[in-house]
Amino acid sequence: MQSKKPMVVRGSLLTMDAAQPRADAMAVVDGRLAAVGGLEAARAAAGPSAPVLDLGTSTVLPGLVDSHNHMLWTGLATQLLDLSSARSVPDVLRAVGAWAVDHPKAEWIVAAEGWEVDDLAERRYPTRQELDGVCGDRPVYLPRAGHAAVANTAALERGGVRADTPELLGGSIERDEHGDLTGLLLENARNLVGQLVPDLTTAQRTAALRAIQSSYLASGITTLQEPGLRSAEVASYQQLWADGDLIMRVSAMPLIADGTPLGDRLEGLRALGVRTGFGDEHLRIGGLKLFLDGGGSLGTALMRDAWPGSDGYHGEAVTSTVDLATIVRFCVEERWSLGVHAVGGAAIDIALREFDATHKEDASIADLRFSLIHAYLDPSPANMSAAHRLGVVVASQPTMQERFAGILERRLGREQAAKANPLRSWLDAGVIVAGGSDSPITPHDPFRGIWQAVTRSSGEHGEAFGPDERISRLEALQMYTSAAAWCSFAEDTAGSLSVGMPADWLAVDADPMTCSLNELAEMKPDITAVDGELVHDARSAQSPI
Ligand SMILES: [Zn+2]
Repeated sequence: MQSKKPMVVRGSLLTMDAAQPRADAMAVVDGRLAAVGGLEAARAAAGPSAPVLDLGTSTVLPGLVDSHNHMLWTGLATQLLDLSSARSVPDVLRAVGAWAVDHPKAEWIVAAEGWEVDDLAERRYPTRQELDGVCGDRPVYLPRAGHAAVANTAALERGGVRADTPELLGGSIERDEHGDLTGLLLENARNLVGQLVPDLTTAQRTAALRAIQSSYLASGITTLQEPGLRSAEVASYQQLWADGDLIMRVSAMPLIADGTPLGDRLEGLRALGVRTGFGDEHLRIGGLKLFLDGGGSLGTALMRDAWPGSDGYHGEAVTSTVDLATIVRFCVEERWSLGVHAVGGAAIDIALREFDATHKEDASIADLRFSLIHAYLDPSPANMSAAHRLGVVVASQPTMQERFAGILERRLGREQAAKANPLRSWLDAGVIVAGGSDSPITPHDPFRGIWQAVTRSSGEHGEAFGPDERISRLEALQMYTSAAAWCSFAEDTAGSLSVGMPADWLAVDADPMTCSLNELAEMKPDITAVDGELVHDARSAQSPI
């Protein structure tokens, strides 16, 4: 780490501050911006002996913000079985077998969440019998994206899942045409096995966060919001912070459904007395996080019309409307914010209806900054005006469209799939739309998301997929700065290069407002700074951290 001496940074500053969009220099004093404007003013604020870091024609931006990022899950790929590079079912099976051999003492074989069934050539999950073939003596559990999991026979037996196990609310246990278990568990059915997986230690989690943090800083993210953390996971963040190793700013969103009955869970939160906003400038408690439905690429999102070809299946309601109403009331009473995972139109309808009902009977909910997470399959104009009226923020991940355009088109047809993630419409309705990645579901590179929001270029089509929903470069940059900071309760520490803000910034060698689209898609910071200290520096052979 470099010392916190005053310094002047000179370059082409794109401040994201409407009061002064462009500047030539900024002064950093005690890790904060003491002046932003001309070189002389910056020199005067930093003092005559302060060095000038002259970045020439490089563009300097505020540190970028990811409003929905599972950094812990992403990092756990370094600690668990990582299937993210598997491209076929045999790849998955080979990886499981090899990991089992390499870890003879591991009681369970468990994968990290960040892998994608649509990446596999067969576009299907491995079966429990295939998993038994490579590891039959120990339980194997391969969770995916928070919504699905495949288990081998040993794992299903431990979870008491049998061919005659009844279906449960908000989940499904897949069976083949003979009624035998395939090993696939969707949504709430995951917990039947997942709850038995031995918990990771705090040391394993903090190691995962340490391992991944530098790649985030190298991509330009300096602030993020991590949704849906269980208590032990929040504690791991606190450990990293206490060790002095948390460089980024993190807003941690506790998961409501942590396995305890809802009433007990809410009483526990009430008794603790902390709420959204508690913490300091590096680790803070965000809103509570709740899953209302499934996922789009999985075909489990709760839709207004049945999924095409599904025989009347509308998707999963992972949380009941009664429980949602209880949670919304609790949040209003206790002044918690709330982020609701709602992908399908019917789930978006339900969430906004419950927000609105509480809004009417109590004080305004607008100042609680509730958010809809994803909200990308068919939000209606009525949803958009309700979100605007209620001050509801949308946490959106533009890269979802790139990642899932193909699978959504196969599931929903081209016309419906092209309408997914309607960024232009949300913004035109006056809704604040925060950028993010949902890493590891899509890569955490923020410039990829900015490029995708601007182009809607999809891998399978190359051309813009749903071009009416493209937004401008400035709007896309706002998604990943001021809007994501607002969504993450970090507007006092992130989102613009303005006097008084922490000196979190990055330098790129082209101007994202005017460079070619290819340059925008591939943009990587040369330097990233947090609190005025250079925490990533691609100019030197060795990273300073
Ligand atoms: Zn997520």
